[in-house]
Amino acid sequence: MYKDESEYLFENKINEECGCFGIYNVQDASSITYFGIHALQHRGQEACGIAVADDEKIVCHKGKGLVSEVFNNEIITGLKGNHAIAHVRYSTHGSDQIENVQPLMVRAHTGHFGVVHNGQIVNVNELKIELENMGSIFQGTTDSEILVHLIQREEGTMVQKIIKALNRLEGAFAFIILTKDTMYAIRDKNGIRPLSIGVMGDGYCVSSETCAFDVVGAEFLRDVEPGEVIRIDKKGLQSFKYTNNTSKKMCVMEYIYFARPDSVVENINIHNSRKESGRILARKDFEDGNIHADMVIGVPDSSLSSASGYAEASGIPYEMGLIKNRYVGRTFIQPTQKLRERGVRMKLSAISSIIRGKRVVMIDDSIIRGTTSKRIVQLLKDAGALEVHVRIASAPFISPCFYGVDTSSYDELISSRMSIEELREYINADSLKFMTIEEMKEANGHELCVACFDGKYPTELYSFNTNIKNK
Ligand code: AMP
Ligand code: SF4
Repeated sequence: MYKDESEYLFENKINEECGCFGIYNVQDASSITYFGIHALQHRGQEACGIAVADDEKIVCHKGKGLVSEVFNNEIITGLKGNHAIAHVRYSTHGSDQIENVQPLMVRAHTGHFGVVHNGQIVNVNELKIELENMGSIFQGTTDSEILVHLIQREEGTMVQKIIKALNRLEGAFAFIILTKDTMYAIRDKNGIRPLSIGVMGDGYCVSSETCAFDVVGAEFLRDVEPGEVIRIDKKGLQSFKYTNNTSKKMCVMEYIYFARPDSVVENINIHNSRKESGRILARKDFEDGNIHADMVIGVPDSSLSSASGYAEASGIPYEMGLIKNRYVGRTFIQPTQKLRERGVRMKLSAISSIIRGKRVVMIDDSIIRGTTSKRIVQLLKDAGALEVHVRIASAPFISPCFYGVDTSSYDELISSRMSIEELREYINADSLKFMTIEEMKEANGHELCVACFDGKYPTELYSFNTNIKNK
């Protein structure tokens, strides 16, 4: 989902999160896992991998590319076993080198295991220096490797080692670990990244998003709790806490942008929460009494739900004004500056026979750097829109994320340096409105991390702090 590059791919990307998936005690685990990570493909398109265990050993296949590019029938049938973990990656910390592609595999005399991770460890630099000073050698540049080294340095049973290691980590993380015969599902103590458990016959399924459960035929059981380590083995499921110092700070961007509309995050369906955001935006316009428009459109895909909520609440008809070209792959040739200047648009098109001569309310989920909104307003005006009123289904994005969503520095965040009126002028909209943080909570629940909207981070940031410009 390179939606921010609505017209031009590969341009200054904002990174998305990763997707983790696991399955325990289910026949043909690798085929089912293939479909599981396929359903999570929107969370990362850069690389992917599956590790499969058969109670005796664990083997892995991974590579750069989409799930359908890295795996074929032959590879999948060669991965034999009833347990599996898998990952789709969109690099956050760490480059795209192959050593960083997950599952990370550990071959130790104490036993082999694989790890998949979604999120960002914020004391990564401090821990890495400490571990290197003690003799650890890192293969890749990803923060996920830290957990592996910490586990290896601890003593005790596997679960004891994991619990001790987790107590050294700060930040946002969901991990799934698989040994030859046991799986562990883990969430950070603030529950910033999602991870849910499903039941599948006599087995279990673990996933970053519940949309994968529907695809593989698992039934949602519950979310992994903040600070919880769930062990799944032959005896079933057992819960441990690595700390009792927990809180609930689910990343609000899951609701706003990342998650698929059919997923349920912390008991809230994504489509419904987005629709509610649209209703709230309509309510604001109604209260202000200043919107006279012929149609409501949403930017595909993440804003279609909000647009339908806005239309329903305002009584202004919902229309399909923008169409997304779904088959622009990652490997598409990047247009040259000359082609861009000539207006080559690869990803989104406006339907001029619908737009022409109309006053349009255009809903988008967020403005980060402002490039998308500016381009889309232009696209709509080129297609003949009389007026374009932009409504954003979130608050102004003013602070970078340090928890796995690489939104870079303050300088790139347009709302941290422009007022709403300046931004309206910049994107050339006839009007522009955002939600407030309170309204976001009304739509998405109250137990949230909203740090990129209010600058209040739920953890210490350690050396990541140096990236923060004094404002
Ligand atoms: P921008 O052009 O930088 O303002 O990007 C805003 C657009 O990017 C919005 O339309 C969002 O749908 C989309 N978006 C929001 N967050 C992310 C993210 N972390 N990665 C990629 N796209 C995003
Ligand atoms: Fe999500 Fe923003 Fe918090 Fe990062 S800072 S976890 S993007 S809400």
